[in-house]
This record gives sequence, C-alpha cells and structure tokens, in this order.
Amino acid sequence: MNFEDYYNTLSSHQDEINQINHLYLNITSKGLIMDEMPHVEPYKKFDRVLFVPAKLKFPQRPTCIFCGSKAVEYHSYTPSTLKHIAADPSFPVFIELKKHRAKCLTCSHCFQAEDADLAPKYAQKTNQVTQKIISELLTLTTMKDITNHNNVSPSTVVNVLNESVTLSSFTLHDSLPEHLCFDEVRTNDNQLSFICIDAVKHTLVALLPGKSSYDIEKFFNGFSLAQRARVKTVTTDLNAYYASVAERLFPNTEIIIDRFHIIKMINQAFNHERVKKMKLFAKPSVEYNLFKCHWRLFLLEPAKLDNEHPRYRRQLKRSMTDAQIVSEALELSEELLLSHNVIHKLHRAIICNDVLTLARCLRAFKQSFKQVSVQKAQWTKKHGGAYPKNIKNIDNNHLIQTLNTLTTDKNLAHVLNAANPKFAKYSNGPIEGINRKIKLLRRLSFGMPNFTNMKKRIILWLNFKPKNDAHKVLGRARFSIFWQKSMK
Ligand SMILES: [Zn+2]
Repeated sequence: MNFEDYYNTLSSHQDEINQINHLYLNITSKGLIMDEMPHVEPYKKFDRVLFVPAKLKFPQRPTCIFCGSKAVEYHSYTPSTLKHIAADPSFPVFIELKKHRAKCLTCSHCFQAEDADLAPKYAQKTNQVTQKIISELLTLTTMKDITNHNNVSPSTVVNVLNESVTLSSFTLHDSLPEHLCFDEVRTNDNQLSFICIDAVKHTLVALLPGKSSYDIEKFFNGFSLAQRARVKTVTTDLNAYYASVAERLFPNTEIIIDRFHIIKMINQAFNHERVKKMKLFAKPSVEYNLFKCHWRLFLLEPAKLDNEHPRYRRQLKRSMTDAQIVSEALELSEELLLSHNVIHKLHRAIICNDVLTLARCLRAFKQSFKQVSVQKAQWTKKHGGAYPKNIKNIDNNHLIQTLNTLTTDKNLAHVLNAANPKFAKYSNGPIEGINRKIKLLRRLSFGMPNFTNMKKRIILWLNFKPKNDAHKVLGRARFSIFWQKSMK
C-alpha cells in the first residue's frame, strides 16, 4: 500500500498521524502537534520540499512572561518555517510551524508559545540541524561540505561553531593542569603554532598563533606563580627551547622528552647508517637488496622476528625467513651489527620503562664519547686539523651523533624521564593525533586561511564531549529516507 493511501485511512485518526510525524521527525517536544498530512511542493531554489504542518500550543494555562499575570486571552497563530534535518540535501524538510499567541489582559503585552526542545526563540532551524552541524564539525569534514550536506549558509555553520565554542570559555586563567604537553602544529599558511594540552584529560590549554619563547612565556605569565608552581610534568619533543622555557615558567616541574620522539630519532639515525652501508654495494646486487628491500625488519625487535616460515624473496632470489634476512645483512657490516644491538637495547629499555638499563647505556656511551673528545683534542694539539680515520668515522656516524644529542648535560635527565615508570602515562600522542587531523583537514579544504575557525575546531575536537554519540545524531536523518520512499 502506498504511504499516502495509508495516511488517508488514518486521516480520521489525527492522534496517530501526530504520533507518526513525531516518530519519523524524531521530535520529542510535547507541545508540538503535527496532526496534518505533510505535503510536497517547490520552494525557493528546490523543486521538491517536504512541508510538515505543525502547531505549537501552550503546554498548560500560560502566565504572562512580562508581568506573571494569569489573565490571558488566546489569539490566533503566528506562522514560521523551521528547517529540519534531511538525509538527502536535494529534498529538504521544513516544519510549517504555527505558534500559538496570547495577550495579557493585565499589561496588554502579546507573547507566543516557545519550546526550547524544538528550537530556540527566533531560530529558523530545529535543534537537530544544529546538532548535526556540530557532529559534522567534530569529524574531518570541511565547512563547505557541511553547508552543502545541511542546506545551510556558510555563516550558519560559523555561527554554530561560535556558539559551541566561545574562546573566552576555554582561556582558563584561574587554573592550570598538573601535567602538560608542549608541541607545535602547522595551522594556516604553513605557519607553526605552539600548542599545549592537558596530558591527562587531553583538553586544550593553549594554541598560540606563534611558537616563539616570548609568545609562550607571555601566555603562561598570565597565570599566578602559585598556579604555575602546581605544574608537575611537561612532556615535549627535543625542541631546543621548550625545556628551558618550561623550567623558567614552572618551578616544580619535571621535563619528560616524549618517548616516541626518542625512538623516532634513534630509528632515523640507524636508517641513515643502513643506507650508508647499502651504498657500498653495487646497485642490483643481492647485498644491496638485503639492506634496501627489507629495511623495516631491522627496526623490529629481533626476538619477535619470524624464524620459522621461510618465504620466497624475489629481490634476493631465494627463500628466507625474516630473522635470516636481518642476520645475513648484519654479518656484512660489524659496525651496523653494533648499531643494531644498541638501538634495540634502547628500544627495550624505553618500552619496558627500564630506567636503570637506559641510564647505564646512555652514561656508558657518554663516558666513551668523552674519551673520543679528549683524543680529538690531543690529536689537534699534535698534528693540526685532519683527524685519523677512526675519529672521522665517529664524527660521521649519525647514531653516535644522535646519542650525543640525547646525552648532553641539558637533555640526559629529561631523556631518562621518558623511561621512568612514574611518568609512563604521559606522552605527546594526543597532540600528534591532532596534528594529523589538522594536516588532513587542511588538505581537504585546500588550505585553511582562518586561524580563529581552525582554533575553534581544534577546541571542539579536544574539549567537546557530545552528550549523544555523533552517529546517533546522524541516524536521525533516516526518517527522510522513509518520507522519500513514501511520498514518491
Ligand atoms: Zn502581562
């Protein structure tokens, strides 16, 4: 049976029509009565628009909103049109709303029925439309796409964003979290901005247009010294000045170098060394391919490499297991074998929060590096500029240089904090997630010129915890599929 026929059979049962409309428009407002048949007609730029007639009545005998008097007389209805959510933007849904009016007999003011559950006063869209826009702002969708999906103007989307996020509501000048993360993100015009979040709750603390130490100190100096003294840890990457700025600003803080940054640095240095060894062999040779084609295996924990299931390797022209590839490649270079052992010892220490092993490794390295420096000084004194080959090799070794950076007097204690079990739960992971999201959004929107809107969306992503899950809000659009099927 056609839906319209079904509707006609119900026409004598206006209560049932009302219930169906409430159900399919997913409107919970009790004062709204939708007991008339919806109709489809052209409207503005659309060929087909679904209009659902509705009346908003006073819930009980109203009192005057101006003087509180109960002596009121009912007048007729004020017509208005409310946009509702639709699954198909080319077939919009409007509620033809008539609001009941009343006049106060005491003060002669007129007022009309309002329902905050349906829409705020003077609004031209229902709360569901606003919710859907917010739920789309929380995802990786460009503002332009949101306007297209919801048939609203760009300024409506910006207004919803502004209403959901007021910048003043997030500047928290009276309290600072105890654990902070520092990093930088690339926002608009390829410009780097300083970002700071709460390491526990993952809410935004600061997003500044610049990233200079002057900007950072200016922002945090807005907090009292007592507030700043509460900050216990700051997690950061190996940026040259974040640690010193944090130490100046927060007197009682421990600096933690983010463990993922340390592992990334070590891995990059090892890869550099591997490529150097690879280039010693002729290009299409098996040795060259051993180093080139299976580079990921070198970075995996050796104990976890597969040693049981040989597979045919096209580039090596024979069957080998993963463990065999690594051990054969490392046999070709003693230096790389040593580097391999070192990076995995460090990996294990950091991942297992074994701060003692990490400290022992790094201090031993520091000691031997000091000896090399002494040798260098002696050599310069005796022979002048050019160093012998063994010292040159150390100078050119990326892993040694990286470890040297990690073990400078300034960095060593901060690096050791990364493996301290006490600080195991703090990392820059959440900021890296935001970085990735911004990068994707910038690419989707072909650049994002407006820093304020970008900042508000970042706040929304980090700070906004929706009451309903986003998919539930989007799920409300299902009803218009029902309408479209039935009204064709
Ligand atoms: Zn009155």
